[in-house]
Order: sequence, then C-alpha cells, then structure tokens
Amino acid sequence: LIEPTMREAFRRANAAAPGYITRAASYVHRRVRHEAGAPLSYHAWGIAVDINSADNGGRYIARPPAPWSEEWMRLWPRGVPEGVVEAFESVGFRWGGRWKGYVDNMHFEWVG
Ligand SMILES: [Zn+2]
Repeated sequence: LIEPTMREAFRRANAAAPGYITRAASYVHRRVRHEAGAPLSYHAWGIAVDINSADNGGRYIARPPAPWSEEWMRLWPRGVPEGVVEAFESVGFRWGGRWKGYVDNMHFEWVG
C-alpha cells in the first residue's frame, strides 16, 4: 500500500538532490530502538526508510541544533539535504531529524 507514496517521495527527493541518496533500507521486523517491550518500529510495517545511514548516524542530543545550522553541519557534514526532507514530508513522512533526545536523521516514517 505504501509503494506509490514511497516511490513519489524518492522521485521528489532525487529531483531536489540528484545523486544524494545512495543507500536506503526499509523493512526490518523489530521493535523501536531494538528494545524488548518497546512497540513495533515503523520499519516492521515497511512504512519507514533510512537514507544513507553511514552519513546520518543517530545520536542522543537533549537540545539538538537547528537542522542545517552551522552546528548541525559539523555533526552531519554529509547529512540529509533540506530538499530531501521536504520531499518526504510533502507526501506524509515524518523526519527523525526533527526529534529531540534521540535525533535520527536517516529516518523517515509515514504518518499520512
Ligand atoms: Zn529508521
């Protein structure tokens, strides 16, 4: 069911940042943060995708810097470009780079 939306997100992302996405991973049957007792991850439903994980490692930051600010760019110099985030958000994905605490900027999950 998610396939057309996922394809459209990638089409828009590739138009916004040609060549940026070199690796993407979606389905994994697991719980959130691999923690026993946590709810099933969006990855377990195939409605989440991680983009270029090597360049977008998640980390705990209580008060993360604004995306694409100077500090942000020091943490993730080859991190997800704004156009890729806009592409995914425009079709209903939520971006983990906007989270507080555990910032997961490789992660997009579909919330409709
Ligand atoms: Zn993820």
